[in-house]
Amino acid sequence: MSIVTAREIMLKAAEGKYAIGAFNITNLIQMEAVVEAAIEKRAPLIIQTSVTPSEFLGRDVLVSIYRTLAESAPIPICLHLDHSTSVDYCQQCADAGYTNIMIDASKQAYDENIRQTKQVVDYCHAIGGISVEGELGTVSGVEDQVKVAEDKAALCNPHQAVEFVERTGVDIFAPAIGTAHGVYKTKNPKVDFERLGQINQMLNGKGIKTPLVVHGGTGLSKEYAIKLVEMGGAKFNVSTELKHVLIDTTCDYITENREQYNPGKIDMVVKDAIRQVAARWIDILGSAGKA
Ligand SMILES: [Zn+2]
Repeated sequence: MSIVTAREIMLKAAEGKYAIGAFNITNLIQMEAVVEAAIEKRAPLIIQTSVTPSEFLGRDVLVSIYRTLAESAPIPICLHLDHSTSVDYCQQCADAGYTNIMIDASKQAYDENIRQTKQVVDYCHAIGGISVEGELGTVSGVEDQVKVAEDKAALCNPHQAVEFVERTGVDIFAPAIGTAHGVYKTKNPKVDFERLGQINQMLNGKGIKTPLVVHGGTGLSKEYAIKLVEMGGAKFNVSTELKHVLIDTTCDYITENREQYNPGKIDMVVKDAIRQVAARWIDILGSAGKA
């Protein structure tokens, strides 16, 4: 039960009106921390890596650690490749054993986005045991290798969304609705909740077919997150916050304990801080107790 695709657990989430916390990790400590949080909360989990950490750590190494952790965990866990702009790299990660792959061809022209997304869908479905996420419209900010200026970000057209999902066959879908990667500059960012609701209604109004993904979770208030889940978000991505907590916690610890040379101690403090961030989001998203 432990190694799952994102689609399997998101179908249940969409049905039950909660969202799965999808946490971007850059190292083993973070991966263990989010798994511990999810086990503690009895929540289904999506572990994510963007392309750079996946290349740096090695996709085979990541998959091995994921499988080791997931096989002994009493909860379902998915390993997701986030925002790969390369069809080739998507295929390599599918071969390695990732269980969800995101092809982000959202910066391409509409037809090219469809072509590349469908290519990844066909490849992953032929292997089996892998679901695929596609994106339409663009999420502003910086996520690893994907950079989109705020004024260049385009929201997802709901009618195009339906056509995109039909023509590509994607298993889960990320519509751009005004959320952003990185840190929000204002306290109340302009998020188009109604657009998400409309897309959800059009795709899933007569039974859940294609669960929806919300990008750019870092910095959104609890109220925003709850509303996004209400409107149909079934996967909620948190990346930047985990990076900030890792760096701030490490920095604070070293500053306070400059005479100490005990790396294991830093790892423990960081792991605990990351675990708390993940646990907090799991509570907000309503996925606690759902595994
Ligand atoms: Zn994203």
